[in-house]
Amino acid sequence: MEWIHPMPKIELHAHLNGSIRDSTLLELARVLGEKGVIEFADVENVIQKNDRSLDEVFKLFDLIHMITTDHQTVTRITREVVQDFAVENVVYLELRTTPKRNDSIGMSKRSYMEAVIKGLRSISEVDVEFVAATDSEKLHNSCDGVGRKKIYVRLLLSIDRRETTESAMETVKLALEMRNVGVVGIDLSGNPLVGEWSTFLPALQFAKDNDLYITLHSGEVPNPKEIQAMLDFKPHRVGHACFFKDQDWEKLKSFRIPVEICLSSNIITKSISSIDIHHFADLYKAKHPLIICTDDFGVFSTTLSNEYSLAVRSFGLGKRETFALAKSGIDATFAEDEVKQQLGLIFDSASPEYV
Ligand code: 5GP
Repeated sequence: MEWIHPMPKIELHAHLNGSIRDSTLLELARVLGEKGVIEFADVENVIQKNDRSLDEVFKLFDLIHMITTDHQTVTRITREVVQDFAVENVVYLELRTTPKRNDSIGMSKRSYMEAVIKGLRSISEVDVEFVAATDSEKLHNSCDGVGRKKIYVRLLLSIDRRETTESAMETVKLALEMRNVGVVGIDLSGNPLVGEWSTFLPALQFAKDNDLYITLHSGEVPNPKEIQAMLDFKPHRVGHACFFKDQDWEKLKSFRIPVEICLSSNIITKSISSIDIHHFADLYKAKHPLIICTDDFGVFSTTLSNEYSLAVRSFGLGKRETFALAKSGIDATFAEDEVKQQLGLIFDSASPEYV
């Protein structure tokens, strides 16, 4: 399946702090270990472990955040994550991250996001297009048109389920202020066993009313009431949908809400007991919009090519079907129409290889 790696791909569900290279995490942990802030040996074991329950995943994120949450590191990991997706031939990336406040180091949600933007600007190996084409701000590294790789990047700001309504609202207001630097929407994520839908709804509704796109982590645990409430909200996409019941599938399908499918993540966290019963198969057969994504390629030791290979092997997709599936992701992006057109051209020019 050597054809999967060069195939143009779209990534719509990738968390910044879940997509850090192991080598970078270990390097950063070693430095903190030397300073006595953490016990490096403990961290090393956790980072290198490969099977994790959903609960363990969130414990790992707390550890990762201890290691990564300073401006310089946020800039570095943003740069590396985008570089790694570009190597995977991702042509459009929607990267999501939770803006964080840490008064002890003078970090506000805004300065956290500015560090992310700095990371995007610091990439020189590939052309990164992350502001709307209509924006007057010029990129220092815009495409030189001589065959360099180009990746479109748009940002989603995540609300963590541990947050209050006020804090969620702060994130939405920040997203609105940062629309001119590629922020297109809001994600609701974090431990699904924590928090109530009613806490986040006011901020999500405000975001929607102000034309931000919304994607929700939905149905990662059995919570029928919340799943129905989320679907009634009519988000623009949902992620995971592992514990959806018949009535949920019916609603999702009737609203044509695209699903971000994260195969390795669902299997490793045991949200789905075996790949043969993964809802990918039913959604694909029903021609429901879906897009294959990594979720956290660092935490789950995967790549987007690997996720496509897994789908091809598990569900018997052919080369042409896989290419069509990848291309169909364009419609599920939160990009401007002009970018969607450009993506269409990129896929069209690659299509002779995938017939
Ligand atoms: P960050 O937002 O800090 O860049 O990325 C890590 C955060 O994304 C985690 O702390 C968590 O809130 C969220 N996240 C990452 N993977 C998952 C997942 O599989 N499920 C949920 N619900 N949240 C996740």
